[in-house]
Amino acid sequence: MSINSQVIYRIRDELIKKRREQTQASGYQTTMNANHMCAVLDQSGVPISFGTNVFNIKTPTTEHAEAQALRKLMERIGRTTKKLKIDILVVRTNGHNSKPCDRCIRRMEELQARFTIRHIYFTHEDESDGIRCVKFCKLAQDPDRHYSSYDRNLRRPKQNKLQDLCDKENKFGGQNVCKVC
Ligand SMILES: [Zn+2]
Repeated sequence: MSINSQVIYRIRDELIKKRREQTQASGYQTTMNANHMCAVLDQSGVPISFGTNVFNIKTPTTEHAEAQALRKLMERIGRTTKKLKIDILVVRTNGHNSKPCDRCIRRMEELQARFTIRHIYFTHEDESDGIRCVKFCKLAQDPDRHYSSYDRNLRRPKQNKLQDLCDKENKFGGQNVCKVC
């Protein structure tokens, strides 16, 4: 880890505490998946922006914690040609894998003109200290992308169409063999 790991643990614990207090104050239960938080850190590990998954019972989550923290930061610093060096910490209150999803990684790539993203720290149950650290360039190259459930649903209609086509083929194809899949 490039930033002192004690600093990362402290911010993680603060984020989890803050989120638990917010959840209790709001009076309704959120699903575990919604409990994502993000802190953007400057070069010395000081948090300069925070984000949480926007959770609404009626509408699906459309802005993830990472995207929100980066958006808030950009709104605050305004137009500038100066490139900021940052690290990003993503946390789930239950300590499970909070690796940024495909959409968030793509967003971070889009913002590379404004930010030099050095490391992504995220909670992971397989790490002894609960935190995994990956260089952003490595994460961006990793073909194993995670799709959030919201994005999976957006992708699903296509698959359903294919399934319909398969069903039709099976029904009318005669030989019970699907020609599509
Ligand atoms: Zn995401």
